[in-house]
Amino acid sequence: MSFSVEQFKQQFPLFAQSENRELVYLDNAATTQKPECVIDAIADFYRHSNANTHRSSHRLARRATDMVEQVRARAAVFLGTASPKEVVFTRGATEGLNLLAYSLCSQLQPGDQVVLTTAEHHANLVPWQMMAERYQLELRYVPDTRGVPQFDRLTEVITARTRIVSTTAGSNALGFRSDLKAVRAALADKNIHWIVDGAQLAAHERVGVQDIGCDFFVCSAHKFYGPTGVGLLYGRERLLRAMPPWQGGGEMIADVDLYSSHFADLPHKFEAGTSSLAAIAGLGACLEFLGQQDRAGMARHEQQLLHYLHDRLEQIPELNLLSAAENNLGIVAFTHPRCAAIDLMQWLDARDIAVRVGHHCAQPLVRASGHSATLRASVAAYNTRLDVEKFVAAVADFFAHLDDDVEAQSGVH
Ligand code: PMP
Repeated sequence: MSFSVEQFKQQFPLFAQSENRELVYLDNAATTQKPECVIDAIADFYRHSNANTHRSSHRLARRATDMVEQVRARAAVFLGTASPKEVVFTRGATEGLNLLAYSLCSQLQPGDQVVLTTAEHHANLVPWQMMAERYQLELRYVPDTRGVPQFDRLTEVITARTRIVSTTAGSNALGFRSDLKAVRAALADKNIHWIVDGAQLAAHERVGVQDIGCDFFVCSAHKFYGPTGVGLLYGRERLLRAMPPWQGGGEMIADVDLYSSHFADLPHKFEAGTSSLAAIAGLGACLEFLGQQDRAGMARHEQQLLHYLHDRLEQIPELNLLSAAENNLGIVAFTHPRCAAIDLMQWLDARDIAVRVGHHCAQPLVRASGHSATLRASVAAYNTRLDVEKFVAAVADFFAHLDDDVEAQSGVH
């Protein structure tokens, strides 16, 4: 089994549509395209198996319930958890982080501390800010250099009152990987809950939550070729058991009377209401699909593209590259002193090249890097060298036109 980008890309029907034949899709850090098998699994669920899970016991309901629990078991293998009980279905990484913030912080005392980094996506900042206000907690930040966390200095901000450390596995704005080994070492002998936001990581390599050594891990299926509306939360069984549920409703209870309830066992305690069942079916197909791929080959291909992209961009005069090629999850971000990133994005869009511009839901990091908006291009395994060439040529062309405009305005020809 070796990786072929042509064969891989053929499995994504969006690229085969006549209106998308020329599309250069480099917005993969926002969301990835979906392979045929994922789209089919979603439609098949509605066509053949649609019923609510866990509650009803007729044939279709049993089939839907079995499907959900089989996908959970597959997700447990995908994440490397000790048991499927440690896998909670969420709507995505954002919901996973909100669940953790609401549930864990409700057990803290005023003055307890939560440690974050300046590189976090807003999904790993705002819920903690909300809970800090509600429970009078103190938020602390890992020391950083222009927004990039210095994990070897994590111990400087940890005190006897630190209860939670929540860190991204990799920046969605600049692409750099976090030094999770350094975090693990710093927390090794401490009774602190460690959460890893794996939203960007899971698309690019096999996740092993037990190897990472974290207590909790969140990710979103749509970032690794799966459907929107479903994500995974891993938590150590012992910790999940001790945590209160965050939402109440059907599915998450064992027994309800008018004034109190007993909650269901793990993981259902954290899955109130009807889940995105068709999306879970799509996730199951996605995990099977990924299991059939040469993941190491995919990662090598992405890294080659990233380095090529980076090297080519470096040759464009004045371009201010904010991301490094090394230790990077497949993202380049840059600015240019003489143009707004949004103008370049529109120029690229007119040439059917999809990238993202803005603060990428990581405003503190982008600000700390000295900017308010950057242009971000992010690769996935279906991107080709030609995609990179078209992108770089269009960027260079844009700047050449910028020079022409300046010359025209100054009367120089
Ligand atoms: N964390 C990171 C690092 C992300 O990149 C994202 C998505 N951009 C999220 C969290 C939130 O993911 P979702 O919107 O799928 O909940």
